[in-house]
Amino acid sequence: MTKTSPLQRPRTSGSLPATWSALWKGSVRFRTTVLTVVLSALAVIIACVWMALAIQDRLYEARKDQAMTAALQAAAEAQSLLDAANPEGDPGKLQEIMGGVQTRVANLAATDYARIVRSPAEASTTLAPVPWVTTPFEANADMLTEGLRERVRDQTTRQWLQAVEITMPSGELVPGILIGQSLRFPEVGMYELYLAYPLDEEQQTLLFVQRTLWLAAAALLFIIGVISWFVMRSVTAPIREAAETSAQLAGGDLGVRIVVDGEDELATLGRSFNAMADSLEGQIKELAELSLVQQRFVSDVSHELRTPLTTIRLAADMINDNKASFDPTTERAAELLHAQVQRFEGLLSDLLEISRYDAGSVQLEIEPTSLAHLAEDVIDSMQQLADQHGSNLRLVAPGGYSPVDMDARRVRRVVRNLIGNAIEHSEGKPVVVTVDSNQQAVAIGVRDFGLGIKPEHIEHVFDRFWRADPSRKRTIGGTGLGLSIALGDAKLHGGTLTVWSEPGNGSNFVLTLPRVVGGAITVMSSPIAVEGQDAETPMGTLGLTQPIDVVLDTDLRGKK
Ligand code: ADP
Repeated sequence: MTKTSPLQRPRTSGSLPATWSALWKGSVRFRTTVLTVVLSALAVIIACVWMALAIQDRLYEARKDQAMTAALQAAAEAQSLLDAANPEGDPGKLQEIMGGVQTRVANLAATDYARIVRSPAEASTTLAPVPWVTTPFEANADMLTEGLRERVRDQTTRQWLQAVEITMPSGELVPGILIGQSLRFPEVGMYELYLAYPLDEEQQTLLFVQRTLWLAAAALLFIIGVISWFVMRSVTAPIREAAETSAQLAGGDLGVRIVVDGEDELATLGRSFNAMADSLEGQIKELAELSLVQQRFVSDVSHELRTPLTTIRLAADMINDNKASFDPTTERAAELLHAQVQRFEGLLSDLLEISRYDAGSVQLEIEPTSLAHLAEDVIDSMQQLADQHGSNLRLVAPGGYSPVDMDARRVRRVVRNLIGNAIEHSEGKPVVVTVDSNQQAVAIGVRDFGLGIKPEHIEHVFDRFWRADPSRKRTIGGTGLGLSIALGDAKLHGGTLTVWSEPGNGSNFVLTLPRVVGGAITVMSSPIAVEGQDAETPMGTLGLTQPIDVVLDTDLRGKK
């Protein structure tokens, strides 16, 4: 099975939104860079718009002031010429004065867009000089509105302004300012002077400024993005290394450390991490050593006890053989001694087996064995115990006859333990042993209909020295090591040992062994379902509780 590290980069295949979403979720660097660029873009856009508007206002105001001053000067000069003139009712003189006015306006107004028009309210007279309009103004005659003219007529002493659009000789439409003022002609009355000022140059300047601003903004954003990418890289690289190292540490590689460089916060993080890893490694080593000492102690004590115990057993056997010649009290004591010495021996051999597991020195002695026949043998040997408990011990074996490679001695011990436990907890009810096989595995199930195991106890049945009720009267076993050893045996074969149980409905223990030792099997591929089966219809399913697969926990339990 290939393990996927949580630190691996997310896959970025697939549609574009999925790619972006994966990048967004999976990379702090990407997220921070995008956020920085987006927020900076907002700030830059606001700044650029504000600057563009300010520059536009400034340019417009400056041009307006300039135009008004020029127009005022032109009008004032023209009016002073008019005030000094004395036409004496001569139309020729009046027209001459108009010519002078035109020249002054043309010289001083600083625009080609000029028009002098007689106010319509004036009485018509043949004396009045002909109005004047320049060609560019005439081309834009529409810009002069009646509203502006009325205002100019109403208040003759001031300038009137109107924003207009002017078509340039090139055909380009540009914004402009139209200024209206009054001129008083001697003897003929009021005339109106209109001067238009196109803002084409200002528009050009504004366009140039705007273009430059946007270009500068884009360049600025690009630079901000690149800088934030590199800054984030320098920050996230050590964090990523720390995360990867801690993942390796969590995976059991206690020797990994972070390469610490410099004195900054990240270096402090690295140093603290390394100190933590050192302390963790030290503690784990200490615990492992302690556990080794404990294992060795159990193994040594068990070995040391063997010799005196053998002598005690021989003596106890001898006394037991002669118990008929003792008085009843001594006879009972001899029986008790015999039984307890036997239990002690059993406990000692279990302890030795467990210490062999802990030392990792267990070797399987593989031979082709028929599980169905093995089960039959064990049942025969345990028939007497079943009778003593009033239990009917039955074998149902639809399969499992053909020989499969296994360590027969160990499998026999497991089956004996399972059947012994079942008889002990069956409360006189039947015990059904099922053997079956499929393509991958052979399995044996031992089902009793007795006490059952409470749900909160099920997860402990494979623990060392665990017994549901330590005070219960025991006839066989009773050390609390049997199932722990059985699980070790199953694992050694690459098999599983699973349990289903329900208080009052009994229990079902299923041992599944692969056809080839070490072959891949799962609880699901077992030929026997672990859920409880009915006494009368052995293959029926009660299915009230879920099976518990305890196989995966063995390593942890073994280290307790
Ligand atoms: P032992 O039988 O020597 O006490 P085991 O490891 O074989 O030790 O069993 C551990 C405990 O699991 C037993 O003490 C018992 O409480 C419980 N147990 C095992 N098999 C059954 C069963 N078939 N029904 C009910 N409880 C059981």
